[in-house]
Amino acid sequence: MFEIRFHGRGGQGAVMAAQTIAEAAVNEGLEAQAFPHFGAERRGAPVMAFARIDTKKISVRTQVYVPDMLVVMDESLLDIEPVADGLKDTGSAVINTSSSPENIDLGKRVRCVTVDATTIALETLKAPIVNTAILGAMAKADPLVSLGSIKKAIISRFGEHLGEKAGALNAEAAQRAYEKAIIGESIAKRQQAKRSMWLPTWQDMPAGVALHPGEVGGMKVGPGSAVQVRTGTWRTRTPRYIEERCVRCVKCWFICPDAAIHRRKDDRIDIDYDHCKGCGICSTVCPARAIEMVRGARL
Ligand code: SF4
Ligand code: SF4
Repeated sequence: MFEIRFHGRGGQGAVMAAQTIAEAAVNEGLEAQAFPHFGAERRGAPVMAFARIDTKKISVRTQVYVPDMLVVMDESLLDIEPVADGLKDTGSAVINTSSSPENIDLGKRVRCVTVDATTIALETLKAPIVNTAILGAMAKADPLVSLGSIKKAIISRFGEHLGEKAGALNAEAAQRAYEKAIIGESIAKRQQAKRSMWLPTWQDMPAGVALHPGEVGGMKVGPGSAVQVRTGTWRTRTPRYIEERCVRCVKCWFICPDAAIHRRKDDRIDIDYDHCKGCGICSTVCPARAIEMVRGARL
């Protein structure tokens, strides 16, 4: 059996990628399954998805703990989650990054394929939705499922949901990623932490409607814990405040879903970059174009 674990951010299409590789495998006459695991159901929050492919019927139903292939759709996850935990020594990793494999520290030396899927997605689809580019790089990392079958599954699945043109553009993103992906080996400098194997069952939860403050499976939970969770690490775009344009309407302060805009006494603003997740809503509502979104996690 070949097991794949995807790590991405809400909005990058990890779930759709897992479903598409499974569909491509089924089209080749193989057995497959795909399913997601959501933490916080929010755009930008870390999510996982899993796929299994085999020549015979698959009866396993657990998450994938010992993957043959690891797929990381957002490079910043390498620094905040033990993404490579359990990856087989004979396995491979596919990473969305502009770096080459020998600069990717997975805490172990494995076959590593890197591709700048974000740039390919922005150029091809005009949106940072990297799943189809990643699928192309996966075909290069391991030809278990051919690029041709993957493109066919993309055209069918994305075409059905988003229209024929979108299907063709997404297949083009996969083709470009396949051509541009670099094959090498990761490095093993960092100490890899262990992943928590199981989330708590309902029997483990304390009585009442809310959890007591504390840590569960590595997650901070309980009242006020959002302050401790640095949602700013999710960011792929960063708001830049242009103070001289600001007309002090405070719309951005009112609308920010993460309370990451602080209102000064004079109704100008400060942005809390530890908690701004880069959604861009403040920039959209600003009537004076005083907030610009800049690509990247920092200014
Ligand atoms: S919405 Fe724009 S103009 Fe209004 S306070 Fe915010 S930055 Fe200033
Ligand atoms: S981009 Fe703007 S609205 Fe979105 S979290 Fe950051 S400060 Fe708040």
